[in-house]
Amino acid sequence: MARSALRASTVVVCLLLAAAATVFLPLAAVAAPVLKEDMTGSSVEELQRRLTEWGHPVEVDGRFGPLTKEAVKMFQKERGLVVDGIVGAQTWRELAKSPSLVHVVQRGDSLYVLARRYGVSIKDIMEVNNLASDVIVIGQKLIIPKKPAAGDDGDLQPAASSGTVYQVRPGDSASVIAKRFNTSVPALAAANRLSDPNRLRAGQELIIPGWQATIPRLIWPVKGRISSPYGWRTHPVYKVRQFHGGIDIAVPVGTSVKAAAAGKVIESGWMDGFGYGIVIDHGEGVTTWYGHNSKLLVKVGDRVRQGQIIARSGNTGVSTGPHLDFRIKVNGETINPIYWLP
Ligand SMILES: [Zn+2]
Repeated sequence: MARSALRASTVVVCLLLAAAATVFLPLAAVAAPVLKEDMTGSSVEELQRRLTEWGHPVEVDGRFGPLTKEAVKMFQKERGLVVDGIVGAQTWRELAKSPSLVHVVQRGDSLYVLARRYGVSIKDIMEVNNLASDVIVIGQKLIIPKKPAAGDDGDLQPAASSGTVYQVRPGDSASVIAKRFNTSVPALAAANRLSDPNRLRAGQELIIPGWQATIPRLIWPVKGRISSPYGWRTHPVYKVRQFHGGIDIAVPVGTSVKAAAAGKVIESGWMDGFGYGIVIDHGEGVTTWYGHNSKLLVKVGDRVRQGQIIARSGNTGVSTGPHLDFRIKVNGETINPIYWLP
């Protein structure tokens, strides 16, 4: 019994390690019309942005579809509101609360560790999260209150001692870069001694704290609608809350699946729930994953070039409709592919 409990908790840890640690919230004011399913427009976009920032990632497309409704319900449940999937005054008020940070508890975290990292007191964290005890569990979302003394966000996290160098691309912002690397704007600012992280210029070199891999420039493996984004969702088949480590791109069965970058095939075959899958190794701990295919066109050991057709898409494994599940892993942990695709 102890062993199976241990195994179950290991699985949970693996799933949760994939979650981005920290999400930052802007402090802008929100308009507050009542929103419900099937509505569209810029206030729906605002809602979707806020849900994403609160750790319920949804596509920001201005359409209040079933995935958005699901995210609203999870948010309402978490915040102790009436769970009806309708965004009224109360839900807006909670969404607008704008904690300075939401931290997803990871292995090794304790209130003591978090209080030190973010420079706030244990008491303040307990208060703002209505915690009755100091017990926190992996995957739990904690609001990190703003520091009592008004100060620059830049000193929330200590400077990292190691990292990789990233050259800022045109159109990059600090928050996009932070999301790409599962880090935070304050961490970036601290590691690079940036006085204003909102003023980056293309070509500027930044140290990404704690990051050791170089992700190659990727292309889309298929073109299609994102039917399920990266992040927490209620699993379409198992109906339980799970972390989705990839993006689902809806495409008809038989669509050509292309290698997102050059590399070496390290898996090609049946991969249980992932169906007929392929994994390509790009070196430095970076792999890309392609799932639910109908036909595999490469085998383990093959070297593939970027854009080479490696499979025909399908609907195999645990899947509710034809799509490609595309993932990127760095040292075994998933990152959000959307920030790496053109
Ligand atoms: Zn998927």
